[in-house]
Amino acid sequence: MTKNKLLLHICCGPCAMAPLELLQAAERDCELFFFNPNIHPSVEWSRRLDNAVRAAEHYELPLHILPGIDVETWRERAADGKERCKFCYETRMMKTAEYAASNGFDSFSTSLLVSPYQDRKAIIRAGEVAAAAYGLEFEAYDWRDYYRHGQDLARDLGLYRQKYCGCIVSLEDSKFYEKICAEHARLI
Ligand code: SF4
Repeated sequence: MTKNKLLLHICCGPCAMAPLELLQAAERDCELFFFNPNIHPSVEWSRRLDNAVRAAEHYELPLHILPGIDVETWRERAADGKERCKFCYETRMMKTAEYAASNGFDSFSTSLLVSPYQDRKAIIRAGEVAAAAYGLEFEAYDWRDYYRHGQDLARDLGLYRQKYCGCIVSLEDSKFYEKICAEHARLI
């Protein structure tokens, strides 16, 4: 693995914890990037951003934030199933690559690679296409064995651990839908 400057896209605080612990142990030159327009509603987006900020502070790493939520695009793709997730990875990896290339990074990766619930092959494909478009390296880590450990770290730090992936479709499909909506209503 190369030792260049890495931009790590983070989808949320809990998923960032184990990758950051491992990258720090490896003494990687690393900064963080939050860009997740898939997340719905805005109160959830803010909550996940707050947790990303706390994770960054915990590891004393700079966090770059690109705001923006695009609920309509994800709603329109409700019936697309796996294609919707593919689009979701491509959107986030392409923007991460663009930001990395414009800000002096040599490579990028994503905390999505810690989750056993995400489509690893589709994430890597999206990362590699984005890397090629901007002349960067996509670092395809396999952090899945550390997923539980990361969740424990997040719990110890008092981070909020969400019960759905992020987009409006995943929220509406969640068996915790009513509970989550009640929680959102309390936070507004
Ligand atoms: S389920 Fe998750 S990965 Fe798939 S589109 Fe929704 S937020 Fe993105």
